[in-house]
Amino acid sequence: MSIKIVIAGARGKMGSEAVKMVLETDHFELVAVVDTKNDGKTLLDIEDQPDVKVPIFVDIEACFNEFKPDVLIDLTTPKVGKQHMEIAFSHQVRPVVGTTGFTEEDITELRERAEAQRIGAIIAPNFAIGAILMMKFAQVAAKYLPDVEIIEKHHDNKLDAPSGTAVKTAQLISEVREAKQQGHPEEKEDIAGARGANYEGMRIHSMRLPGLVAHQEVVFGGVGQTLSIKHDSLHRSSFMPGIRLAVETVMKIDTLIYGLENIIE
Ligand code: NAP
Repeated sequence: MSIKIVIAGARGKMGSEAVKMVLETDHFELVAVVDTKNDGKTLLDIEDQPDVKVPIFVDIEACFNEFKPDVLIDLTTPKVGKQHMEIAFSHQVRPVVGTTGFTEEDITELRERAEAQRIGAIIAPNFAIGAILMMKFAQVAAKYLPDVEIIEKHHDNKLDAPSGTAVKTAQLISEVREAKQQGHPEEKEDIAGARGANYEGMRIHSMRLPGLVAHQEVVFGGVGQTLSIKHDSLHRSSFMPGIRLAVETVMKIDTLIYGLENIIE
C-alpha cells in the first residue's frame, strides 16, 4: 500500500526537490501540498512545478481533514515547522521534518507530545548521508584531538545560524570530550563575533554566500598537526534519499527520532 504524503513548503528549494522525489517513488503518493499562497490551485497551475493535479492548500488543517495523509514532510521555517508538527500530531499525521532551527527545548517538548500520542516523528537537521558520516567521523576524531572548530557555509537565504548540522556536530563531539575553553585564555575579540559562536568552548563559524548550498568542515588541531573532515552538499538532491528513508521509517515508530544517524544502520 502506498504512503499518503503532504509536503509543506513545496515551492521552496528543498520542497520542490521533495515533490519530485515523492512523485518518482512507487510506494509514495503525493496527495496535496501546503503553501503560503495559491490556495485552491494545483501544482499543474504553477510555473516550475511538475505537471500533476496535486491540490494546494494554505490551511494545513483543511488539508489534513480532507486527505487524511499518513506523513507530513515539512521544509518551511523553524516557527512554522513547529506549528505544523503540533497540528500533524493532533490529526494523527506523522511528521518528517527537515526544517532547521529547532531548539533542544522544542525537541524535548515535541518528543513528549509524540510519545504521549504514540505517533512517529522524525526531525533531521541534515538528510545527506555524507553529512551524517562527517559528523560520526568528527565524533571519533574528537576523542583523540579535543581542540576543534567548526566552519559551516550555506547559501545566503538561510534564516538560522549556526546551522542545525553544526549544532548537532558540536553536540556529538561534546558527548566524547570534556567541555574546555579553546584558544589563548586571555584572548579578546576586537570585533564582536570574530571568534564565532561558543558551544562548550568549541567555536562555530557561519558563512553565508550566494552560490553555496550546504557545506561543513570540522578542523581539529593537535601538536604539530591538523585534521580536516569536510562535507559538501552540491545539490539539494543529496538530501532526498535521506528524506525517503525517513518517510519509510516514520511509519514504523511511535516516538520522535532526532537525527538521520539514528535511523541508518
Ligand atoms: P526556501 O526555499 O525558503 O523554502 C521554504 C518554503 O516554505 C517557501 O516556499 C515558503 O513560502 C514556504 N513556507 C513558509 N511558511 C509556510 C507556511 N506557513 N506554510 C507552507 N509553506 C510555507 O527554503 P529551503 O532552502 O527550501 O529550506 C527549507 C528548510 O529546510 C529550512 O529550514 C532549511 O534550513 C532546511 N534545510 C534542511 C535540510 C536538511 O537536510 N534537513 C537541507 C537543506 C535545507 P514563502 O516563500 O511564500 O514564504
